[in-house]
Amino acid sequence: MNDNRVALATCESYEPETVSRAFDELLGPVGGLDWVEPGMKIAIKVNFVLPKEPEKAATTHPTLVRELCRRLTAKGADVVVGDSPGGLFSKAALENTYKVTRMTEILDTGARLNDDFTEREVHPEGAKVLNSFWGVSFLLDADAIIDFCKLKTHGLMGYTGACKNMFGGIAGLHKSECHYRFPNHAQFAAMLVDLCEYYKPVLSICDGVLAMEGNGPSFGDPRQLGVLLASFNPHALDLAACHIIGLGTTDIPTLNEAYSRGLIPEKAEDLEIFGDIEKYRVSDFRHQPLGDIRFYFIHNKVFYDFARPFVTTRPKPDDNCIGCGKCASVCPEKAIEIVKGRPKIDRKKCISCFCCGEFCPRGAMKPYEPLFLRMIRKK
Ligand code: SF4
Ligand code: SF4
Repeated sequence: MNDNRVALATCESYEPETVSRAFDELLGPVGGLDWVEPGMKIAIKVNFVLPKEPEKAATTHPTLVRELCRRLTAKGADVVVGDSPGGLFSKAALENTYKVTRMTEILDTGARLNDDFTEREVHPEGAKVLNSFWGVSFLLDADAIIDFCKLKTHGLMGYTGACKNMFGGIAGLHKSECHYRFPNHAQFAAMLVDLCEYYKPVLSICDGVLAMEGNGPSFGDPRQLGVLLASFNPHALDLAACHIIGLGTTDIPTLNEAYSRGLIPEKAEDLEIFGDIEKYRVSDFRHQPLGDIRFYFIHNKVFYDFARPFVTTRPKPDDNCIGCGKCASVCPEKAIEIVKGRPKIDRKKCISCFCCGEFCPRGAMKPYEPLFLRMIRKK
């Protein structure tokens, strides 16, 4: 029997007193932190997509994480905060991220920032598609994981929240291999759900105070939603968060996969919600153009391979591009070549994973919808 309880709390700002009040409201209905025992090793998996200031709404806000750390260390837990975003999983890369995201603010609570950058191969039993992966030790060695995600749009998967956040449980550059191994949405979603089920976060919390709309997960626009969500079921949390921004199980591949495995009900209305979810709903949230058309075509592989260039949102550099070549170096399909100082994308090779957009230092790689897709969608 799945736990379908999701708690919501109003949190209008990242002011410490507001945050503390919101946490009282949030954690009460789902039993708070009663499960925490002294000496327990708890890893908080935050979202560090890129080293960006908290105001940009790309990363989990440090004031929220600090409040959680404060409550956990007060119970005697041994708390570590970390993530393995794209790129290298190394001390040098992450130390800069800790500074820029201001996650160093948690240190006065007695919690630590992860300094173990080791990884090891894991062979999950009973996985649907992910029969092996390179995991990060700080999560693998924890007694319990808290998945502290950010509510954002996502170029590849439409939305990123609790389930997608666990992709950081795959060490550094091994994430690119996953784009090879699971090249379409359905397979990638199955991999993400396998991964999330393997790490099995005890509690998931979502920072929807300042969410990200538009060109997420790295270069979208901050959007004030003023809400925190918590659940023992990461997929239930995602279903509730998506309901707030106008999406459902048929729109988001990870939700569709979780529903098909019986991990969540089909509709947010069937969750057990604590709080008035309707008051947080917005009707004009700017989504990433993940085509429901594209998602439909995926089920017919032969036709999808033929139609892909016409029905798939793909990356396109805009005038902010400085020709640095970062996109080419992270592209898992080697689909980008820098020609005369501009990225040239091989449409046949491109799998629309949007890693190039995620790591472009200028936010220049934008999602582009081909004319055919726009016409069908309009219709
Ligand atoms: S990473 Fe961005 S700025 Fe650099 S070449 Fe690619 S699109 Fe241009
Ligand atoms: S060009 Fe960009 S979206 Fe296409 S496969 Fe490469 S990284 Fe992914």
